[in-house]
Amino acid sequence: MSAPTDNGAGSGADIVSQAAMFARPQLDQLTLALSKGRIFEETVPLLKAAGIEVTEDPETSRKLILATNDPLVRVIIIRASDVPTYVQYGAADFGVAGKDVLLEHGGEGLYQPIDLNIARCRMSVAVQNGFDYASAVRQGARLRVATKYLLTARNHFAAKGVHVDLIKLYGSMELGPLVGLSDAIVDMVSTGSTLRANNLIEVEHIMEISARLVVNQAALKMKRARLQPILDAIDRAARALA
Ligand code: ATP
Ligand code: MG
Repeated sequence: MSAPTDNGAGSGADIVSQAAMFARPQLDQLTLALSKGRIFEETVPLLKAAGIEVTEDPETSRKLILATNDPLVRVIIIRASDVPTYVQYGAADFGVAGKDVLLEHGGEGLYQPIDLNIARCRMSVAVQNGFDYASAVRQGARLRVATKYLLTARNHFAAKGVHVDLIKLYGSMELGPLVGLSDAIVDMVSTGSTLRANNLIEVEHIMEISARLVVNQAALKMKRARLQPILDAIDRAARALA
């Protein structure tokens, strides 16, 4: 007998699992929200420790819903800054988001049990090399600061008593000082090579950043029996890797 042929519609089992993947979530189904790139890549080993393996690669797949080896766990791929929103509204039961993103979101409706110690970097103030930030601050000058992190930046400068006009950007903050949009930027720095490549220097360290696991508060109550062992395994794996 010949092997079953693939007619492009997938096998019966595939169709069943596809249908399960797109169906409205059942009480025993878990949806995990991740963003592409470093968050996804650094979360995969932690999931593995919890027995969960994502069976598709978001870098090559166009799918926004990815299956895992566990039919009751699926992964959705969204923008990093949208992760807290999906979890807040229960469209995802849990997710992984940077502290930077969580501070801007505010954390409403989110239970934040675990610092995963991944996607580590720092939030800093940077200026163009040659700009005397310290004396501008000392003289009480009003500074223009471009950033994606309005709330965190506002809190930081308010606490220091520095007067700033904040300019909201959505990316490539490094360009701001180079073209005269702003005197300074508030941005994420890991190695500092992007700053160096653009003739910028770090002048103030605002806070250390790492990614956190966030859980929908209602899901934690309603789905605790399924969620808690996964959260515990991820927690153990994160501690072991830290
Ligand atoms: P997008 O690229 O969709 O605009 P993003 O830049 O916030 O969003 P990523 O670049 O994937 O998304 O970063 C995700 C998270 O990784 C950030 O929220 C931050 O917590 C962390 N991170 C670690 N290092 C860096 C870095 N050098 N630059 C930016 N984010 C970093
Ligand atoms: Mg990015």
